Amino acid sequence: MKKLTLLLITFSFLFILSACSQEKTKKSSDSSSAASRQTSETPGNFNFDSKTVTLNSGYQMPVYGLGTYSLHGKECKTSVTAALNNGVRLIDTAHAYGNEKEIGEAVRSSDVPRKEIFIITKLYPDQFSDPEAAIEEALDQLDLGYIDMMLLHHPGNGDVKAYKAMEKAVKEGKIHSIGLSNWYIEELEEFLPQVDTVPALVQNEIHPYYQENDVIPYIQEHGITVQGWYPLGGRGHTQELLNDPVISKIAEHHDKSSAQVILRWNLQKGVVVIPGSSNPEHIKENTELFDFELTDDEMMQIHDLDRGEKHDWY
Ligand code: NAD
Repeated sequence: MKKLTLLLITFSFLFILSACSQEKTKKSSDSSSAASRQTSETPGNFNFDSKTVTLNSGYQMPVYGLGTYSLHGKECKTSVTAALNNGVRLIDTAHAYGNEKEIGEAVRSSDVPRKEIFIITKLYPDQFSDPEAAIEEALDQLDLGYIDMMLLHHPGNGDVKAYKAMEKAVKEGKIHSIGLSNWYIEELEEFLPQVDTVPALVQNEIHPYYQENDVIPYIQEHGITVQGWYPLGGRGHTQELLNDPVISKIAEHHDKSSAQVILRWNLQKGVVVIPGSSNPEHIKENTELFDFELTDDEMMQIHDLDRGEKHDWY
């Protein structure tokens, strides 16, 4: 009798174990099919409900933010404050912009908790010879405890060494995610085999007149998030792009501005946007991107505007 009871208990245990493992397999296959659905339906795997993307590093990053190139001193602080007050949680800076200090100050004086804000900064090639010191300098200038994302600003002598220093800083908890800027297909093919960590982000020039339609899918197929700089064409070029008849007509149809249409076009391609502005109205306008959707035909009309016209040398 004792033996029979023991046998029954063992059988019941095995039965429960097998049921649990089937449930787990089902759950993971459910979630993996949901993930693949999301990948095929939303380029870049963007989540339009939370307005974020989960990076390959596991961290979440907002899909729109504020670019801060050319913003300095008080203007920089008030622009970042205006952005934070309007719900922007992603700020892009760089050592080369000379404004990390102001950005750190604006973030620290904001009511928004630090952990809700995502800061990107970059190491410039003239810092690659002593990357450890450059990383410490960025941490010191920003003074925000850690850096959410650090990029190498351009390819250059010592870039692999600098990247390895960033990998080490990730292990030490000083930086959460790392990536590259101004790396295109050829540069990525040469660079990626030399490093251990697949970049979480590549930030390149992308706008309707320079679309990188070959580069974007290449980067995304590697599980890397794409971010576009000069989304509105960059300084000196915005007026032509914002007044483009095709974009203006689409904007009129949706009762949106041309800037909003261009930013939305990027998001629907899975490209994170960081328009630059010091104008609080424009900063707010550039966040209102989620109450309309461009049709396939409108996406195609903008696709046809590509003229391979780079607005900067790198
Ligand atoms: P941009 O294409 O974002 O255009 C900025 C211009 O557009 C400004 O003059 C601004 O006043 C105007 N603007 C912004 N919103 C507007 C709106 N709603 N309506 C009308 N005009 C509007 O150019 P940018 O700021 O130079 O680039 C964006 C960001 O990309 C930079 O701030 C910087 O953070 C980053 N960037 C990175 C690199 C790199 O090498 N990685 C190079 C350049 C820029």
